[in-house]
Amino acid sequence: MITDLNLQKAIKTKRIIGHIKGDLPGPTLIFFGGIHGNEQSGVTALEHVFKALGKGPFSCKGSVYGIRGNIPALSKGKRFVDKDLNRIWTHSRIDNINARSKDQLSVEEKELETIYALISGILENEKGPFYFIDFHTTSSKTLPFITINDALINRRFAKLFPVPIILGIEEYLEGPLLSYINEKGYVAVGFESGQHTEEASIKNSISFTWLTMAFSGFLNRAEVKNFKKHYKKLQKSAQYNANFYEITYRHRLSDTKDFKMMEGFRSFEEILEGTPLAIEKDEFIKAEKDSIIFMPLYQEQGEEGFFLIRKTPIWALTLSAFLRRSNFGALLHILPGVSWANKEKQSLLVNTKVAHFFTKPFFHLLGYRNRVLDKTHFAMNNRELTAKNEMYRNTWWYRITTNKSIK
Ligand SMILES: [Zn+2]
Repeated sequence: MITDLNLQKAIKTKRIIGHIKGDLPGPTLIFFGGIHGNEQSGVTALEHVFKALGKGPFSCKGSVYGIRGNIPALSKGKRFVDKDLNRIWTHSRIDNINARSKDQLSVEEKELETIYALISGILENEKGPFYFIDFHTTSSKTLPFITINDALINRRFAKLFPVPIILGIEEYLEGPLLSYINEKGYVAVGFESGQHTEEASIKNSISFTWLTMAFSGFLNRAEVKNFKKHYKKLQKSAQYNANFYEITYRHRLSDTKDFKMMEGFRSFEEILEGTPLAIEKDEFIKAEKDSIIFMPLYQEQGEEGFFLIRKTPIWALTLSAFLRRSNFGALLHILPGVSWANKEKQSLLVNTKVAHFFTKPFFHLLGYRNRVLDKTHFAMNNRELTAKNEMYRNTWWYRITTNKSIK
């Protein structure tokens, strides 16, 4: 429960960057900054916006929360202290953490416990539609970009912002906070605003916050001073790139000590076949084909060395939106080698020996996301079945994009 007492405590412990409840009904916005302790920009940006909001006058509709992520890691300026706080939001881990006493928990498990209680309280006491925004920065140079789990509500909301959008990174990561929120069916958008310590990263997050407040209806667009300027600022920082991309490869690291990225790569840079990308255990890792590099690692802590991405063509986005709306996915279980993995029919079990003609992109089109079980089986979870579309049905952005019959 988010009682007044609870909220006061959260404010006192500096967990809350800011909270404003409007006089009129409206959406609930929950912003996170500093889930990674070396990524201060989001926190600074939110402090700035809440200060401006406090000066008013604004006629706010609904409620907004700014939440500080990993407080002990933020004070040390490190990504994390014991464990990555953005890799432990799985159901089994959350249950396990909530069942143990506080003194048995690691630094990040304690942080999760507090943030989890706060989110639960907000969901219980506030009204939807809910919007969760998580601010991050990267160790390499990058255009600002959005990451989302590929549900149509996320796509529709995310594409209001003039920055590139990366689909389905969650398939490669275990336990990010936003995947947990997404499984509950809410709109959840990650915004990576730039390189860790760049001034521009703060400015981009400030612009993103104002745009979110306007797009969600928390503020009237006319009330956001410089709305156009904020929009143009993001557009320019992203070099007019607002394409959709999907991850094609993740270079996972067992130990960052053995890994050294070649200097000078930035996210979204095109690379040619044969380009040396990194050195791992004294050997070169070269690009196997022409590709686009994404989130190359230039810091000591991290589980991924780099990713490769490719642009998702418009036809694939349009076709997948159509197929999902027509509920085509509900018929897949009659195909050979495909069966329901659970009673709720949210997940498909695919035997790759039998159903080898179905590739991952085929399931992606239909909103399924892949989880490898063993050599011959993988489970596909359907994002659309858990998405709370009803909650967003009356928002202007949901209706507009439906009428145009795109995404
Ligand atoms: Zn981060």
